Amino acid sequence: MTAPAQSVSPWKHFCEPGNAWTRNPAPAAWSGEAGATVLPLLELSLRDVRMWTAVHEAGHAVTAAVHYAYVTAGQPSIRLNHVYVNHAQWQGRALSRGGQAHITFVSGIDFYDLAIWAAAGERASDWWLREEGLWTPDRGWVNEVCALGDRDNISAFDSRWRVAYTDAERQQCQTDGVTPVDLAATHADTDEFLEEMWPAVRHVARLLYTHGRLTGAQARAVASQYLTGSR
Ligand SMILES: [Zn+2]
Repeated sequence: MTAPAQSVSPWKHFCEPGNAWTRNPAPAAWSGEAGATVLPLLELSLRDVRMWTAVHEAGHAVTAAVHYAYVTAGQPSIRLNHVYVNHAQWQGRALSRGGQAHITFVSGIDFYDLAIWAAAGERASDWWLREEGLWTPDRGWVNEVCALGDRDNISAFDSRWRVAYTDAERQQCQTDGVTPVDLAATHADTDEFLEEMWPAVRHVARLLYTHGRLTGAQARAVASQYLTGSR
């Protein structure tokens, strides 16, 4: 993946229940209700939904593994405790998304590294849809909406930073004395990282798909096979 030019804002659609902006428009079939499950709008098989979730969590997991190995000389910076995928289902359809990469982060970590970690799930699962020839604007929207919690986390990691999509929101950051995070730029940097580690993400995702749960040590062992000495 090549980092896109950031001269044009990708945020064109407001998602009211999530109170956030998305790149893709809401599907026509969406009820618009807050809290309504959006997974059926993927129109994917249960197997594909499970792999889509596994790739999302693997994106987080591999990012954490690389930070654990390299970022803070000899000291773990993001420790991955465990990662799992699971879905509630009804009549063969995935109803609720289940998956989590549970981490602990250690003092001294750079805020931007955490932002990249948070964005890695959303960007990995979007890329997987494209690579599999499954990407549509509707699926792109679902992928975004299911990652709004991750985007909120970027603001939650450190009260001195806040995701801001629009000029008005950036202005509000100035008023509130916090630094705005340009999410599009964060996504571009995340894409660059994922491009380098993509075989590791796919490998961890396959194991997650099969086993449902991996320990942090297991995910790190897999990711380490793909690390070159260049970092
Ligand atoms: Zn996530």
